[in-house]
This record gives sequence, structure tokens and C-alpha cells, in this order.
Amino acid sequence: MGLFGGRKTVYVDSDVLVIGGGMAGCGATYESRFWGRDLNIVCVEKANIDRSGAVAQGLYAINTYMGMQWDENQPEDHVRYARNDLMGLVREDLGYDIARHVDSTVHKFEEWGLPMMTDPETGRYQREGKWQIMIHGESYKPIVAEAARKAASKVYNRIMVTHLLMDKTKPNRVAGAVGFNVRSGDFYVFRATAVIVCAGGASHIYKPRAVGEGMGRTWYAPWSSASAYALPIQVGAKMMQMENRIVLTRFKDGYGPVGAYFLHLKTYTENAYGNEYESTWYDHTKELVGDYIDRHPVPTCLRNHALLEEIKAGRGPIRMVTTEAFQDPHKETVGWENFLGMTIGQAVVWASQNIDPKHTNPELTTSEPYVMGSHATCSGAWSSGPEDIAPSDYQWGYNRMMTVDGLFGAGDTMGGAAHKFSSGSFAEGRIAAKAAVNYIKDLGKEKPEVNEAEYEGLKKTVFKPLENYEVGRNEIVAGTVSPSYLLPLHGLQRLEKIMDEYVGGISSNYMTNEPLLTRGLELLDMLKEDLDHLGAEDLHQLQRAWELQHRVLASESVTHHTIFRKETRWPGYYYRGDHMKLDDTDWHCFTLSQYDQESGKWELEKAPVHHIID
Ligand SMILES: Cc1cc2nc3c(=O)[nH]c(=O)nc-3n(C[C@H](O)[C@H](O)[C@H](O)COP(=O)(O)OP(=O)(O)OC[C@H]3O[C@@H](n4cnc5c(N)ncnc54)[C@H](O)[C@@H]3O)c2cc1C
Repeated sequence: MGLFGGRKTVYVDSDVLVIGGGMAGCGATYESRFWGRDLNIVCVEKANIDRSGAVAQGLYAINTYMGMQWDENQPEDHVRYARNDLMGLVREDLGYDIARHVDSTVHKFEEWGLPMMTDPETGRYQREGKWQIMIHGESYKPIVAEAARKAASKVYNRIMVTHLLMDKTKPNRVAGAVGFNVRSGDFYVFRATAVIVCAGGASHIYKPRAVGEGMGRTWYAPWSSASAYALPIQVGAKMMQMENRIVLTRFKDGYGPVGAYFLHLKTYTENAYGNEYESTWYDHTKELVGDYIDRHPVPTCLRNHALLEEIKAGRGPIRMVTTEAFQDPHKETVGWENFLGMTIGQAVVWASQNIDPKHTNPELTTSEPYVMGSHATCSGAWSSGPEDIAPSDYQWGYNRMMTVDGLFGAGDTMGGAAHKFSSGSFAEGRIAAKAAVNYIKDLGKEKPEVNEAEYEGLKKTVFKPLENYEVGRNEIVAGTVSPSYLLPLHGLQRLEKIMDEYVGGISSNYMTNEPLLTRGLELLDMLKEDLDHLGAEDLHQLQRAWELQHRVLASESVTHHTIFRKETRWPGYYYRGDHMKLDDTDWHCFTLSQYDQESGKWELEKAPVHHIID
């Protein structure tokens, strides 16, 4: 096959096109079949859905389960919890919608063979905390993927989607997507009536704590490359709360989650001198955020804040006190199994650093920031809400439809509904799919049409990094350095450095301000200019090149949102040094952005936060 011509184009027709076969994508694919028995349902995934996405390595707990059958919690309770944790700013309609459907999703997982832990006394699912239930989750993802595989007309693995396609006849209506097979190099044109974006969150937009040979070690999956945001942003879909990136307190170096330790093993933290420190920072935090510090549970960002302040005061490291709990053999087993089934790297790090948590209290640290819509944070696309409960400001069409017709999303893609996690993401995929099928049925025979000129133009754009490399490789001056192209890894490191130093990453203790953010945007602009000169040696590097493009666009969005919100709403996630306090008078609102691809300009606006649960 010639490099610059003759590349095969494969055309795929579908009614529903699901982009990304992670938790939300599997939910969307499964449910599309339930409502659309005779529809053509296609799922496209850049890896292989059997082991793709943030759940790839398995999980030890399902973090969102109401337990309505035993009256443990009601959906309203979950909305109150998420609202409190996000310092007041969540889309309550979306959160409620997930909470009322999530239990039935979990019951399906059990029916499909997921081994659940049960409480020997009550027979109920074993609780880890108020919302979490414990599972033997090593095979969580393959079990969920099997349901999607059986439901889909076809699953296309190993295809990275790079762009959405718009309808030729009706502006602001989606018509499909393009991408390339990361193994064969074939170009794919997917024609679709409705598209559901489920492409996960964004890691590696900020410089991680582990660099060099350890750079793949991040908390969120390193392959979560911001496509979920870039694809809708490119076509002008509105995004919300992109400044609400998350910082996690995790076990040092292995990023092992702390949830099971706090909730189930009842471990606790102390400073380097063995003292409790959170209460020391109470008055100081109250000055910044007022009554939010008195809420229960204390919002995640504020707990980070106390940890960061204690370290800045010179009393770090902060340690998790495991030595007491681990004297109980049952708890010791659970502590280790927690990582062996979910974050095996943490167990390996401890072994390699001579840390036995039975005898040594392991260090905690805060991660670099990530962007996602499914965890204790809710950046993502702005969407229409459920028709029975969403206020009119939040309704313009079908549930989970973005501001582009026919474009839906779920999981990390969607903003506003924090604390959905794996089960909530799958449930949201189902919700979006049901609405997408209704959309298709309402359209009837009227189908969107792709524009040949558009996808042919994109074909050239998509493969250009291969061409840049082929042309420029003879000009290499030393090692991998070329005057003609930028390698994806170098571009990624440049992006991470800009975001880290200017947009509140680890090296500035998450601090930024307007002058820094403004300069950050200038540097991102220069980086964007250079992305035209990305060089890809092979198809693997071509994928890296497009992941970088998506990360850069998402980063630009984060930076614009961070400039726009003139307050520090979530201390512990990031700080605006020029507006250090939370300001409920002016900023108890959502921030929305819209990108214009033609001009490269961003428009920002506020949207009201409606509280529909008391
Ligand atoms: C370390 C860790 C621990 C966690 N612990 C828990 C826990 O204990 N309990 C819990 O309930 N949840 C937990 N979560 C959260 C849970 O994994 C996420 O909430 C959930 O996976 C989000 O679902 P999603 O479908 O939005 O994204 P994902 O499941 O990440 O799926 C996104 C999919 O899109 C694909 N994709 C991305 N870009 C493209 C593209 N351009 N083209 C084609 N395909 C693409 C990806 O390969 C992936 O398969 C944890 C996550 C991590 C990382």
C-alpha cells in the first residue's frame, strides 16, 4: 500500500453508533438492542472491549449502589451526597436519574455472573461504605463486555475514532464519525443516525508525579485520552464545568485507592509526628469556603486541602495508619486483596519498597489532576435532562443529548452527575441509549447524510503525521530530534508541562491565577500550531498523535473554564490565587463553553444551578 494514496476506506452503516466500549459504552450498546430490536447497532473501540477502559484491570467495589430493595438509601439521598461533595454544583436531575436506575444495572451484573460479596448475617450485598458494595471484580469488564457483544450488530475493536461527521443537509446534526484501524491502517467512515460518545476521561493532560520510565503509572487509566471531550468540542457541543478537574489522595507511588481502607478497614491518617491534622485546618478552611466545611461527609476536595496544607506547613509526609487494622488477619487479607484485584501495581510497589502495611504506615500523596465526569468530579458535556424531572433550562430534546442534534453521551463524557462510577456509567449508557433509539424512531425515514468532501478531507488530515514523518525522517539531527516534525511523546511532555506550570498542577501545589492562565493559553496556542507537524513513525504512533490532539483540545477547554470562574470553588482540587475564596453570590452557577472550530474561538457563559431535591 502506498503511503500517500490507495489507503483502503471501509464504510460502516449504523443506526446507533457507540464510540468507546468501556462501562458506559457497553451499557449503551446493551440497551440500544433492548429498545431497538431491529436496529443496526455498532460499537467502535480503540482497544478491545473485553479489557478496555478504566475498569480494564478489574475493581474491588461497585461504588454506586443504592440498595433500594432493602431501603438502605433512596435516590434523593445520593443527590444530596453528590451535591455536598461537589460544593453545591451538580446537575441534580441527571444524578437523580442515574440513582433511580443504578440498582437494576447492578442486579444485571450479578445475573451475568459477576461474583458479589454478601454479608453472612443479613444476606445482603456486603457494604464497604454507604454507597459501595464489594465484589470479586477481576473479571468485571469481560462480563460486562459479553453482554454488549451479544447485543451489538457488530463491535469494531482496534479503531481509534478521531472526528465526528456532521450532516450535509442540516446544520448542527451529527451524521457519524471517522477513525482508523490501529493495526491495519484502514480508514473507517461510520455513518450513523445517532452517536453516543462513551470515550472515557482524561489522564496525562497534567504532568504526572511519575515521569520517565514510570510515566505510564497514573491513577486514572493512561489510555483515557480525552476523546470523550475533544470529539464533541470539535463539532461545537457545549461543555460544562471543565475547570472541575479532580485530584486524588492515594497511596504514594502506586496510586492505590484509599476508599476500602478508610471505609471498610477503618484506617485513618496522621502527619509525620503521629498527630491528627484535619481539625488543625478547620478555621482556615472555614475562612475560604464558609459552611461547606461543616457538611458531612466533609467534601473530598476539602480533605485534600487539609492534607496539602499540613504538608506545606512542614509536617509531611501524611501516612495511613494501617498497622492497627492489619493486626486482624481478616482485615489484612482484605487490604492486600483490595489491590491484587484492582491496582496490583500498589502491591508491587510496597513489596519493592519493603513496606508491609502490618508493620509500616504507608505514605499518602495527592495525584496530578484528571478530567472526568464519573468520579468525585463532573466535567463534561452539557446535556438535556430527563423529561419528567429536568427543569426547563435543562431540556431541549432527548435525555443525554448534547447541544448537537443526535449526539448523546454517557459516563465520563457527560458533565454534571458526579459519583456515578462504574455502575452509574453503565446505567447512564443505558439511559442515553433509550433516548437515542427514541430519537431515531422519531426521525423515521429522515436520515442524516455524511458529506464526502468532509470525510475525504479528514482522511488526509488523519494520516498526515505518517506523511510528516516519512518526509522529515532524513533530516534527523540527533537521535529522535528532527527540525521538521514533533513526535507525539515530545508534544505530550510539552502539554503536561504547560498545564502543570500554568494551569495548577502538582509543581505549583495546584495554584494558578489569571496571568498564569493567560500565558498558559498563549503557550497552548503555540503548541496547537506545532501539532500540524506531528510525525508518526507507525500506526501506534499515529494513535498517540491523535490522542495528543484530543488531550490538547480538552486542556484548552479546562484552561478557559478555569479563567472564567473567578473564585476557588474546590480548594484541594485547584486554587485561583487571585480569588482564593468561594463566592456563592456570583458563582453558584455552572460554567459552559462552546468552541468554534472555524475561528478557534471559545465562548463562555454561566448557567443556573437548579436545586430540585430539598
Ligand atoms: C484505578 C481506578 C479505580 C477505580 N475504582 C472504582 C471502583 O472501585 N468502583 C467503581 O465503581 N468505579 C471505579 N472506578 C471508576 C470507573 O472505572 C469509571 O467510572 C468508569 O470506567 C467510567 O466509564 P466510561 O465508560 O465513561 O469510561 P471507560 O470505562 O474508561 O471507557 C472508555 C472507553 O473508550 C475507549 N476509547 C477512548 N477513546 C477512544 C477513541 N478515540 N476511539 C475509540 N474508543 C475510545 C477506551 O478504550 C475505553 O474502552 C475506578 C477507576 C480507576 C481508574
